[in-house]
Amino acid sequence: MDLERTDFVSVVVPAHNEAEGIVGTLKEIARVLASCGVKWEIIVVDDGSRDGTFDRVRDLAAREGRIKALRFSRNFGKESAILAGLRVARGQAVITMDADLQHPPRLIPLMLEAWREGSRVVDGVKKNRAGDGIAARLRAKAFNAVLSKMGGINIHDSSDFKLLDRVVVDALANQVPERRRFYRGLADWVGYSHASIPFDVEPRAQGVGKWSLLKLIELATTATVSFTSAPLRIVTLLGLLTLVFGFSVGTEALIGWFRGRAVSGFTTTISTLLILGSFIMISLGIIGEYIAKIYDEIKARPYYLVEDSVGFSPGKSEDFV
Ligand code: UDP
Ligand code: MG
Repeated sequence: MDLERTDFVSVVVPAHNEAEGIVGTLKEIARVLASCGVKWEIIVVDDGSRDGTFDRVRDLAAREGRIKALRFSRNFGKESAILAGLRVARGQAVITMDADLQHPPRLIPLMLEAWREGSRVVDGVKKNRAGDGIAARLRAKAFNAVLSKMGGINIHDSSDFKLLDRVVVDALANQVPERRRFYRGLADWVGYSHASIPFDVEPRAQGVGKWSLLKLIELATTATVSFTSAPLRIVTLLGLLTLVFGFSVGTEALIGWFRGRAVSGFTTTISTLLILGSFIMISLGIIGEYIAKIYDEIKARPYYLVEDSVGFSPGKSEDFV
């Protein structure tokens, strides 16, 4: 098919402490983009790095005006970084990808092709996870399966490596106001026509993974809480079940008492108490998660704060919020 020379493509790269590899990654992305014959820009969102990531990007941006960067005032998380990038990107198509070359830039031409053929969202789908250990793989599989089932969204093996059409970018950046965001889920939730491109997850080019277990758990709760109320329903169901159980045990004891059988069972009482107590506490915890999210939403704090930027026209700071 013939290439439309006027297409403008933005690539958004969230980066947190990626000083070691960021320059190599950006050069590689730029090389691929140049070979696609499109107009392009690359937007690095430095998510509060402390290792000079921003300085490296600034040096590069001084030589290549199509490379731009935002720097957050602290680490706000990858989700916020992606959102910031989507908001400032000007392309007709916007590609989001990691800074560690685990999302292979050589697939960009394929993504563009699928987009030109009419898909509004092109999902990079993980074929294998060479870089991950077996535990991480199982964890990811279980998480995706449970969330897909309960939340009614399709995120099986999907990744943050995506191409979004301008329409979808506008929808995500301007029409989805929620603060606790889960990009992979939202990109499915918005609908539109999807295409997928399978890819092998390369081992990290350099540096180490930036996800602590705590951050992962937080992302998992955000994903669950923002896409499904199923945990709350499970709590209600559990409550009903224990109620039925309690009633039958009680009735049985009552009948025994009428028949003159002494009601005994210290152990039973204690264990029932403990089980019920823990049910109640877990339930409160689950409800608490939802309340905490509501609280986050109504506080309506900004998603991130931008401390510095390169490559964007001055005086347009409203673009950043
Ligand atoms: N990242 C980020 N903020 C964070 C953590 C990670 O912007 O708080 C970026 C990171 O620099 C990388 C991408 O998100 O570009 C994916 O992170 P990483 O490679 O550590 O995770 P994984 O490959 O395991 O998903
Ligand atoms: Mg990675």
